[in-house]
Amino acid sequence: PPVVAIVGAPNVGKSTLVNRILRRRKAVVSETPGTTRDRTYQRAEWAGREFTLVDTGGMEPAAKVGLEALVTLQARIAAEEADVVVHLTDARLGVTEVDAAIARVLREASGEVVLAVNKLDDPADDSDRYRFYALGEGEPYGISAEHGLGVGDLLDEIVARLPEAGAGAEVRAPRIAIVGRPNVGKSTLLNRLLDAERAVVSEAAGTTTDAIETELVLGEERYVLLDTAGVGRRAKREAGVPYYAALRTYEAIRRSDVSLLLVDAREGVVGGDLQIAREIAEARRAFGVLVNKRDLVTPGRLREIEGQVAYRMTDLKPKLLGISALTGRGVDRVIPFAADLYRAFNLRLGTHEVAEFVSSVVGRSAPPGGVKIRYATQTGQAPPVFTLFATRPADIPESYVRYLENAFRERYDLHGVSLGIRLKSSR
Ligand code: GDP
Repeated sequence: PPVVAIVGAPNVGKSTLVNRILRRRKAVVSETPGTTRDRTYQRAEWAGREFTLVDTGGMEPAAKVGLEALVTLQARIAAEEADVVVHLTDARLGVTEVDAAIARVLREASGEVVLAVNKLDDPADDSDRYRFYALGEGEPYGISAEHGLGVGDLLDEIVARLPEAGAGAEVRAPRIAIVGRPNVGKSTLLNRLLDAERAVVSEAAGTTTDAIETELVLGEERYVLLDTAGVGRRAKREAGVPYYAALRTYEAIRRSDVSLLLVDAREGVVGGDLQIAREIAEARRAFGVLVNKRDLVTPGRLREIEGQVAYRMTDLKPKLLGISALTGRGVDRVIPFAADLYRAFNLRLGTHEVAEFVSSVVGRSAPPGGVKIRYATQTGQAPPVFTLFATRPADIPESYVRYLENAFRERYDLHGVSLGIRLKSSR
């Protein structure tokens, strides 16, 4: 995968940014320069692109002596090995000598450079950011690595600058799990999908665990199907054993982007279905319901089940698709149904759009008690998370959060996608 390196003076927040990108709790982050760690290489992913993230934060000198030489050396190494170098600066310090030295090195190297200005903790006031145009590294991206602000936009820019993936080779295929209680028709459906005329099937490499992965190529698109039914190898033998079946279901959900829950149209939504639905919601995967065996029921029955789902699976408000795995009716719509969910799951909105949308939703109905929402931005992806900065976040009732959540769900078609709304203090 392509390489992204983060360089900058000590203590500008490199490690915090790395941890933020890797969505890790903070590891070794020190308020004082001089924390020594090894140069680390980590696997990271954004918008379906994988890259290796190089953290140069570990190579920091304890003293100011030789600082510039060391930091410019790091910049030189980074420029050498990375496809994109992120030059991280500190809004509170302004443009320093060291920043200028790093900029010189990176300019000579003529690679892709993205300039980021950290510690802009008040996103409404980014006047500090403009001073960094002086470095001649293009538009400075204002971020707060600590609070996750602007990091999504920065990652968009980084990913946009990565070299083109050869024929989509670097783009990860959506992973679709087909789950459900015994006898709802999982095997029948999987076999149908895999027998589809244009499907090219190959067993994905490295599948040594219980969940069986099968690659499905439909036209230009690749998918990975996670098989819990026991179509493949070992699974069939153990399929009847409840313990293994539950374990395999759990594992398939965890490894999926999209989990499709198959229910039996005659039986409707029963306790076992709800339990699997809860697991999908807890894992925060995209979720769709397939109502199978529709050949055995009347169209009215499908509407009844729709009512049951709306009433009993209120968390994610999933969409339904009626199919008959046996006759093949509707089966050609299963993968497009999953692909739509995958797109919604990976929704990425620009900061401007989020701000506009939230302000229109708040304009229609403001939070009670005079609480003001000052700023909103997307801080997470797959599934989407939006962070809102409010004057008194603790005073915003759960019902208002639901209202915001539903507004996002309707506007951006996020049915079946777990959606995060975080409230933070704007002070
Ligand atoms: P699994 O345990 O979920 O993998 O379920 P199977 O795929 O083994 O199916 C269980 C039974 O339901 C089999 O007898 C299938 O032929 C039957 N079946 C599956 N899908 C349908 C369908 O759409 N309509 C009808 N009538 N029967 C189905």
